[in-house]
Amino acid sequence: MKKRRIFTLMLISILVLSIFMVGCGNGDNGDNGDNGDVENGGESPDRVAIATGGTTGVYYPLGGAFANIINDYVDGVTANAESTGASVENVNLLNDGEVDFAMVQNDISYYAYEGIEMFEAEEPMENLRGLATLYPETIQIVADAGAGIESIEDLAGKRVAVGAPGSGTEANARQILAAHGITYDDFTPDYLSFGEASDNLRDGNVDAAFVTAGTPTAAITDLSTQHSVVLISISQDKIDEIIAEYPYYAQVVIEAGTYRNQDEPVDAVAVMAMLTVRAELSDDLVYEVTKALFENLSDLESAHARGGDVSLEGALDGMSLELHPGTQRYFDEVE
Ligand code: GLU
Repeated sequence: MKKRRIFTLMLISILVLSIFMVGCGNGDNGDNGDNGDVENGGESPDRVAIATGGTTGVYYPLGGAFANIINDYVDGVTANAESTGASVENVNLLNDGEVDFAMVQNDISYYAYEGIEMFEAEEPMENLRGLATLYPETIQIVADAGAGIESIEDLAGKRVAVGAPGSGTEANARQILAAHGITYDDFTPDYLSFGEASDNLRDGNVDAAFVTAGTPTAAITDLSTQHSVVLISISQDKIDEIIAEYPYYAQVVIEAGTYRNQDEPVDAVAVMAMLTVRAELSDDLVYEVTKALFENLSDLESAHARGGDVSLEGALDGMSLELHPGTQRYFDEVE
């Protein structure tokens, strides 16, 4: 009789304890729904969100392809790619746990992690981790061919689309203009996505637009078939100055023929697009995602030409964040 009571008591305690443990397990989950068990000291949600950019950029199709890779090759995980204002918004979403992965420029992720430049007033975003750098994103300055704009200096006094609010593009526009002695007081800035900038340029509401994205960028390709536009080169001395001040920029050329009626190569600077991940995700999950990505790179290439630039060999070029340990484990294994 006594034995049986002890046994019942033990059973109740185990039951209470396990209910408590299940409660704890779900207690510190992020905001994106059904997170699963906590393992490896990290979160393993069964649904993950990926922050991309505007629908006429390159982040959006490549982020969508990345989501499909997770859906197709990582067991038990459903991924969803979201359209956003791009880099600056994306690091904020990642830092707040609103998304799990994000496409971000390498300069912006560095500024966010260090809490400098446009993040100076905020706490450093120390939970940002790198997964891979992907492809160069060129700072393209496209102008209405009839607006009399031949150099960056000519943008003073004009109506200029400087990128969506919360975009890396906007940060690049500010830095490049500053290197030419131009501030936002010297012209009328419009905070537009690539698609909006292209429509407004075509309709004569803006004279020029900054677009930081992989080439060719759909927004410029479409615009160049409907309207006469030119790409503006940056002079060599200014390119040198910009790179000396901000080391994440590299010198590039936009090859002739990238867009319709573009007969000459254009001198420009570029940063790198990268995939970032929240430090809180479990090593096992990030390992599986990294493995799935690198074993299915052709799926990225089918989504956009720049997807073809992504490679295991180049995955650390311009890497501006500490790697997630799950990614590091994959790289160590395939080395
Ligand atoms: N690099 C751009 C930005 O963060 C977005 C590029 C894209 O959407 O492809 O502003």
